[in-house]
Amino acid sequence: MLKKQIEAWVIRDIGLTEFDNWDTVLRFATRLSIRNSIIACVMVAGLLIVLHAFDVLLNPLVRDIAIGCGIAVIVAFVLTMLCCLYMGYAVIHLARTRLEFRQMSRTDMLSGLLNRRAFIEDLSQVERGYLLILDIDRFKQINDRYGHLAGDDVIVSVANTLTEIVGPTNLVARIGGEEFAILFQDAEFAEVVAMTERLRRSIANRLIDAFHQTIAVTVSGGLADITPLRDFSAVYAAADRALYAAKTSGRNRIVLERDMSRSPQADTPSLTLTDAAISAA
Ligand code: GH3
Ligand code: MG
Ligand code: MG
Repeated sequence: MLKKQIEAWVIRDIGLTEFDNWDTVLRFATRLSIRNSIIACVMVAGLLIVLHAFDVLLNPLVRDIAIGCGIAVIVAFVLTMLCCLYMGYAVIHLARTRLEFRQMSRTDMLSGLLNRRAFIEDLSQVERGYLLILDIDRFKQINDRYGHLAGDDVIVSVANTLTEIVGPTNLVARIGGEEFAILFQDAEFAEVVAMTERLRRSIANRLIDAFHQTIAVTVSGGLADITPLRDFSAVYAAADRALYAAKTSGRNRIVLERDMSRSPQADTPSLTLTDAAISAA
């Protein structure tokens, strides 16, 4: 019980978790240095009074206390400040390394986008929005024809197009080999539909330079609603069903889960969203 109280006091007093920049370190160092200087001053004064009582001091007590306290304040302040800055440097360094490590563990190394784990982590916090899954069409053929490294360049190029168009407000991730996911938040459905179509068109219209070859690719996609009643697996399954419908009905298109569930023939390939339907939305 006492141990816990002491732990809590120390953590609150030090505020270790906030040691991620020099301002907090300096504030803490100054606070502790002043506190230690006062303690040192009181201790030296107390000691001098005891020595005076035993008649050991050669000079008048007031003079000795003034000199002793002056020295104690300077030594305690400087030493505490130096120790705090030294410790602060180490803690800031650790905090930055931890942040870099966290960022690395959340990033897909090839594309620089969020990785699957990080995306699922972030998506699980969201109650409303839209999930788009995009998959590069016939990617195996691209690898077979142009080579795996050229395939990697295609993945990077598609990733760049996605971030360029979607912008920093929406999360973009590479969740599989040639599969991407985008989380749209704070946007109206019609806006999201228009954006997904822009993405599809931009990728289809952009020629990719990879190893002195020009490669054209298309993507298919499935768009699903995120609601409080659905967990990640349910939303992902819905978007994946729509993606499957986009693939089986010819590729290079986006299918809306909403359109599939509205139709009596849900899940059939004929339910894909045509360009006209998207434009209408
Ligand atoms: P579909 O239109 O149905 O999606 O066909 P697809 O060929 O794109 O799909 P499939 O799942 O058959 O093939 C995906 C290929 O992606 C197979 C795998 O070798 C390749 N792949 C997965 N990860 C990477 C990667 O990091 N780099 C490269 N170059 N290829 C990858
Ligand atoms: Mg594919
Ligand atoms: Mg795939």
